[in-house]
Amino acid sequence: MIFDENELIGESDLKKIQLERLQSTVERVYENVSFYKKAFDKLGIKPKDIKSLEDLKNLPFTVKQDLRDNYPYKMFTVPMEQIVRIHASSGTTGSPTVCGYTRNDIKTWAKLMARVFASAGLNSNDIIQNAYGYGLFTGGLGAHYGAEELGAAVIPISGGNTKKQVQLLADFGATCLTCTPSFALYLYDVGSELGVDFEKLPLKVAALGAEPWSEGMRKEIEKKLHIDALNLYGLSEIIGPGVASECIEEKNGMHIYEDNFLCEIINPETGEQLPYGFKGELVITTLTKEAFPLIRYRTHDITTLYPRIKCSCGRSFSKMESIMGRSDDMLIIRGVNVFPGQIEDIITKYNFLSGHYQLIINRERNLDTLTVEVEISDDFAKSLSSIIIPTHPNSASLSHKKVDSLKNKIKKDIKDLIGVTTDVKLYMPKILPRFEGKAKRVVDKRLI
Ligand code: ADP
Ligand code: ZN
Repeated sequence: MIFDENELIGESDLKKIQLERLQSTVERVYENVSFYKKAFDKLGIKPKDIKSLEDLKNLPFTVKQDLRDNYPYKMFTVPMEQIVRIHASSGTTGSPTVCGYTRNDIKTWAKLMARVFASAGLNSNDIIQNAYGYGLFTGGLGAHYGAEELGAAVIPISGGNTKKQVQLLADFGATCLTCTPSFALYLYDVGSELGVDFEKLPLKVAALGAEPWSEGMRKEIEKKLHIDALNLYGLSEIIGPGVASECIEEKNGMHIYEDNFLCEIINPETGEQLPYGFKGELVITTLTKEAFPLIRYRTHDITTLYPRIKCSCGRSFSKMESIMGRSDDMLIIRGVNVFPGQIEDIITKYNFLSGHYQLIINRERNLDTLTVEVEISDDFAKSLSSIIIPTHPNSASLSHKKVDSLKNKIKKDIKDLIGVTTDVKLYMPKILPRFEGKAKRVVDKRLI
């Protein structure tokens, strides 16, 4: 479903708008943000030098540290009297960064999030249960305003309160759930414990994001909740959720809302732009933001962009692949680069495992070790109960002939596909931590 006509824009009109918006953004930051004036001057670039979209590559990058150096408000282009909202990033990778919005920015954002929900097949008849946290984190309010802009009914339950969430899913009849993928899975666990039959709920779709998740996790969520699970992407520095989202028609890559954001992929080591189809770091320039525009912001998110092709949903905005992780999440285990998502993709393929896992990194005799801790599924646990549970404390990892051969199978799969030797520990259900917001999958004991 399409929310607004601008989503159907053709390539030549899109490029024209992008250039106009880029030029005006560059002019505004140069005039109003001393950080940008200095950065441009250092490179000998003036706003009038931006004559085509290709000139983007000559502009300086903005990195998270620049935002921290200008904490809290020095990156804003407008006086405080025009700021109507302040958010901050959730601080997953260090101290938070501050984001300001004018009244127009809030409108722009609401429209973007309305596009996200429309792309998931929703309209004003739908009820959206918003389990993203409300507060400084952009997820809650971003989704809230977007749902209202679409005309859907929003249930502002926020994060947490899992039992109540399950009850409301049944009582209020949400047709869409929006939250992190890990929370969707947790909701399922709590719901099934309470005897909820998800197949009978009116829920038909989940719009999930804010953390990396694999194709395997998608299948698991879809199967358990009897819904379509769609990916949405965004980050607070750029606006919040609403930068890109999957359409329900193809469910294969996220359309980037390119009339608002200019995306590039760069080689993170050299900073050089890479063509479509290459994997690298996503860099975003905002085109419509007023209060806090960013030029070539290095997201650290690793993905691939694909050329514009008319999609069956009607959009021809270019697509971005699911993000397997940030460059800072990449684990280097004995010289091999590993993203947690690659391991997730393997473990979610097994029916006897649940999607709850953690990766523990340690160092033994100067060698990095990776332990994959994963819970077995409820069904498998039931099939084992007579043999194991009576003698086995829940907190210990399972060890039994049958279980050991399964562990070895997982180990072998990880070794074959990723090339690292891991230790695998299987746990009974409900042992590993659960997350109401972003999941913390990696525990790096080398840092403790
Ligand atoms: P923080 O950087 O502190 O986590 P944000 O709340 O702004 O702050 O989170 C934005 C980040 O969340 C993105 O840069 C990205 O790493 C991650 N993210 C958001 N949506 C997705 C998604 N759909 N898939 C993978 N990662 C995502
Ligand atoms: Zn599409």
